[in-house]
Amino acid sequence: MTGFGTAAVHGDDGLVPGGAVAPPIVQSATFSAESDERFTEIATEARGSAFYTRYGNPNHAQVAAVVAALEGAETGLVTASGMGAISTVALALLAAGDHVVVQRSTYGGTTSLATGLLPRFGVDCTQVDQTDADAFARALRPETRLVLVETPSNPLLELTDLAAVVEVAHAAGALVVVDNTFATPVNQRPLAAGADLVWHSGTKFLGGHSDVSAGVVAGGAELIERVWRTSIVTGATLGPVDAWLLLRGLRTLSLRVERHNANALALAEALQGHPAVARVRHPGLPSHPQHELARRQMTGFGGVLGVELTAGRDGAAALLAGLRLAKRAASLGSVSTLVVHPRSMWAGIVDAEQLAATGIGAGLVRVSTGIEDTADLVADFLTALERVPT
Ligand SMILES: *Cc1c(COP(=O)(O)O)cnc(C)c1O
Repeated sequence: MTGFGTAAVHGDDGLVPGGAVAPPIVQSATFSAESDERFTEIATEARGSAFYTRYGNPNHAQVAAVVAALEGAETGLVTASGMGAISTVALALLAAGDHVVVQRSTYGGTTSLATGLLPRFGVDCTQVDQTDADAFARALRPETRLVLVETPSNPLLELTDLAAVVEVAHAAGALVVVDNTFATPVNQRPLAAGADLVWHSGTKFLGGHSDVSAGVVAGGAELIERVWRTSIVTGATLGPVDAWLLLRGLRTLSLRVERHNANALALAEALQGHPAVARVRHPGLPSHPQHELARRQMTGFGGVLGVELTAGRDGAAALLAGLRLAKRAASLGSVSTLVVHPRSMWAGIVDAEQLAATGIGAGLVRVSTGIEDTADLVADFLTALERVPT
């Protein structure tokens, strides 16, 4: 395989029509055929890009090819959001009577899908502590179809041992589906560790500029075709302009991730030990309880960190109020540093009982570092911390 920079720029070579260096936006909902025979062909072709945009569009195909190249996958699929990706995967691969295993610490939407929506369709779910590979083994049943993994997890930055979970899940006949949003393929490649499908919120690092909502799934051709057949029914179709924006963002992924990685590690090191800070969560810190695992399965530690303030909720509020560069906003993986108080945000998507079980403390602030200069970013936080109670 080529390097990530090359894959991001050339992964769609051959899928761009004419001599255009930047792909044209094919803003067309439908495509004409010159004959009856040709119409039947395009209407029945799996994953074609020449029939109807809900079935596929050239801009979708280009993004899918680049994501597949980055993840080392046979092929990929784009959706209108990250949740569009995982809900389509779930509806494609599950039926009543099946069982899924999901992490206790995982994106709130994934928790809601597994513990709220799927049970209404007769799919049972077990939540496990992701840091305990044996907990996955204990949760597996003969009817377990999917194991939903997220590492590092949102927002606690806990890790899952990918190789260990793949081994026990496959031995039990279950598929492993990994949310790689936090790490990005530049830092971690779940398919190489044996996972069956990898998905992302393309809204985050892949798009990278907070200007598009999108999702992607990548994996083997047979599984992706099953997901595609469901996607044309569920209809979470990405608009062509948004697919173009996602591709535009992907071109610079490896450059941006290098800076995100460097900024997050520098900030984590600068904040660790500050009297107003009780604990910094970042897989790149030797103080992270799973740092050894991070070194084994990641090539970089990602752009997100968790800062737990000594003064709890009041400390978190004071930090957020004092920051100048970092913006208080949901989402992550942006060129701009974004900070959020997860306990407040999660209350809107996860029910109270689930929220209590997540382990998200009232003093936790999630920081998604942008690509600002490291020194400016560290100075912004250290200045804000001067006014934070200890
Ligand atoms: C944001 C996010 C999602 C959901 O993606 P959307 O594009 O907002 O639907 C899923 N997983 C993780 C880890 C996320 O951060």
